[in-house]
Amino acid sequence: MIDAERRAALEVIAGEVRGCTRCRLAETRTRAVPGEGDPATEVVFIGEAPGMNEDREGRPFVGRAGGLLVNLLGHIGWQRDEVFITNIVKCRPPGNRDPEPDEIAACAPYLERQLATLDPSVVVTLGRYSMGRFMPGVRISQAHGTTRHAEPATGAADATVFAMYHPAAALRTPAIERESYDDVARIPAVLVEARARRAGTARAATSPTTVEADRGATATPATATPATATPATAATPTGTPAAEPAAEPIDQLSLF
Ligand code: URA
Ligand code: SF4
Repeated sequence: MIDAERRAALEVIAGEVRGCTRCRLAETRTRAVPGEGDPATEVVFIGEAPGMNEDREGRPFVGRAGGLLVNLLGHIGWQRDEVFITNIVKCRPPGNRDPEPDEIAACAPYLERQLATLDPSVVVTLGRYSMGRFMPGVRISQAHGTTRHAEPATGAADATVFAMYHPAAALRTPAIERESYDDVARIPAVLVEARARRAGTARAATSPTTVEADRGATATPATATPATATPATAATPTGTPAAEPAAEPIDQLSLF
């Protein structure tokens, strides 16, 4: 799909979300929050549900949690408009309560269609509810900072899922905030691995399970040292420059 087609397809989905009445959250929302970002991006961030500010503005992650998400992205030289940001449920649960299983199920087709349209290389889950859609049965204290391959039934046909804590949890707990900075620093390397797997070139391509290993334990030195990365120029999550090097062997990427 070319970018214009992706943009148009995402706008169709967003239009349906804005008018959606498939679950009870429609009754209490001010504005539905479809999500936003670069239609050509390789990386999608998925939170839980809109909060008060998001409900007011109709945009994801514009409150305090959003501020931290922007800072986390800044830590690897990325900007929020280079990725796509959305949520598991698109309408605010009253009083910011947790979303109910039937609400999550009702809203799931929108996320599936967004992922099918974007076809991301990397899906970053933010928090337990988002992680639960992609890594069922794991605990976030164990799974944060780790990857697995997305089930195609999620809508993401060939993506590496990377789990992180929710930024709101990081705002509450300094230790979780520190871990979140450690986790986010791994994303450029995860993206490089995912590209290589999708391109079917580097040794990762011969064994998708290497991508599933925890915490880059199997990564080569080139990808295992995100701390030394200069990711602003390195694994940028969008656009044509990224698409071209993706076809090259991983060693030829001047990433780190
Ligand atoms: N928290 C979320 O999970 N999503 C938002 O959009 C904002 C806060
Ligand atoms: Fe529709 Fe999802 Fe909003 Fe429920 S949360 S009304 S399913 S858009």
